[in-house]
Amino acid sequence: MPVKSSNTTSANNRDQGEKSSNQRGKPSLHGLAPYEEKAGEDYMNDAQREHFRAILRAWRQELMEEVDRTVNHMQDEAANFPDPADRATQEEEFSLELRTRDRERKLIKKIDKTLIRVEDNDYGFCDQCGIDIGVRRLEARPTADLCVDCKTLDEIKEKQITGG
Ligand SMILES: [Zn+2]
Repeated sequence: MPVKSSNTTSANNRDQGEKSSNQRGKPSLHGLAPYEEKAGEDYMNDAQREHFRAILRAWRQELMEEVDRTVNHMQDEAANFPDPADRATQEEEFSLELRTRDRERKLIKKIDKTLIRVEDNDYGFCDQCGIDIGVRRLEARPTADLCVDCKTLDEIKEKQITGG
């Protein structure tokens, strides 16, 4: 497929050099089609914001359903193990599920915050340096609030602090 040229993304050309290979593949857009930028269209115009609003809402819905499923699963299973040994195993499983649920809840909160930013017209720009994060990067990570460069710097700093 030929790459469409767009005069709005010149600042983001470096994105294509992003090393993480797992972002190369088709991003899962929670059932939505990738956004097709028209030549010359403004970054984060109404259509783009609507696109990301839809992605964020669909993702949020998926997570909510996942949380519900976990709760139901735990309620169903809790009744099925009267044996204490089985219950111990089950408790381990549950604590793992609870951690997953906790992660999902945090993600839902982050999505909520991100949706507010979309409403406030504050979505899609790097928190640190203010440049466009870019449509493709946002599709891969809809809650991204840093550009690739700032994110990379951030990770390097983090590694230095944790000594990793
Ligand atoms: Zn930045």
